[in-house]
Amino acid sequence: NTLAAQCKSKPQRQVCKTVLKHFDAQYSEELGEQWWSARDVLLNPLSWQYGVLLNRFSDLANLRQCLTGLGYTNLLPQTCPESQSHTTHMHLQCFIHRDPVRIPTQGHHSGWLKQYYLLNAASLLPVLTLNVKEGENVLDLCAAPGGKSLAILQAATPGLLHSNELDKHRYDWLLKTLESYFPPTLRHLLSVTHLDGRSIGSMRPGAYDKVLVDAPCSNDRSWLYTPDTHQGEMWLKERTQLPLLQKELLCSALAAVRPGGVVVYSTCTMSRAENQSVVEAVLASYQGVELLDLDQQLIDSLSDHFYFAHLRPSVGQLVIPQKGKTWGPMYVSQLRRIY
Ligand code: SAM
Repeated sequence: NTLAAQCKSKPQRQVCKTVLKHFDAQYSEELGEQWWSARDVLLNPLSWQYGVLLNRFSDLANLRQCLTGLGYTNLLPQTCPESQSHTTHMHLQCFIHRDPVRIPTQGHHSGWLKQYYLLNAASLLPVLTLNVKEGENVLDLCAAPGGKSLAILQAATPGLLHSNELDKHRYDWLLKTLESYFPPTLRHLLSVTHLDGRSIGSMRPGAYDKVLVDAPCSNDRSWLYTPDTHQGEMWLKERTQLPLLQKELLCSALAAVRPGGVVVYSTCTMSRAENQSVVEAVLASYQGVELLDLDQQLIDSLSDHFYFAHLRPSVGQLVIPQKGKTWGPMYVSQLRRIY
């Protein structure tokens, strides 16, 4: 069977010294000792773990048994509805392994639904926090390649999922992801656009119950492995422009959500300027918005697998990689529009 042909992580890659030096200076200041242990993991791709998100719309046949046989366990053990808190991620099934065991990706075949999607399991945290309920109208503002849109559709069946992506090439990739995982009979629930997310708030004010802003950010994990130093230097320059874009996207999301609705802001960087500082600046400038704590029961249940960093200031939650818990980086915070 193809799953048995598991490969052990990726081949050795070269670390970009310029990016590493920059991270050392910034993150040791922002995260203290936690940076040095996260750094050990980031510099050792052979230790990275992989999550397997199951597609509830596909024929799963013996997949669960196969994964269990390989030593995978379910990140979110299924509980009965009565014993759940107010969270509703009953259908979401992500299998994880304590070791860096990786199964092959599945190819795209027109007319066939893929059975699983490989991801960094910490990227489910924004989706679990969004906590979409059946029938809700949801906007995924920065959606390509589509991992979080896909996870939203696993967790619940929204009334509408609007997935948006600015970049045309990545928009095409998003369309392909949705086609590979979501049955044609339910595609009327999806709207896929390639707009500048900054304009959607004014185009569709108050139209959504929930909005996810999985913002363009410094991707710490992949930036470390930039093959060329010049590219690394370019990124570090561009990095200073990102907080402005992130604030504009978050403001657009707050305009697009209805009063009482929730916006989740997430990034895959540890950078304070792109995380807490963005949220704090928007809270200071935007009337009628409050910061919500993440569901403590959810945090407690994930703490067996994810390492939650001690944040200064403590706005939102940040998962950072640590030995044996290599998930992240993933920053998440949750805001509610009051009026
Ligand atoms: N949510 C995606 C997932 O889980 O697969 C990952 C999103 S990635 C972190 C951020 C995306 O935002 C990129 O695909 C980028 O092209 C897109 N983007 C950048 N600027 C944007 C804008 N102004 N409006 C909408 N999307 C934008």
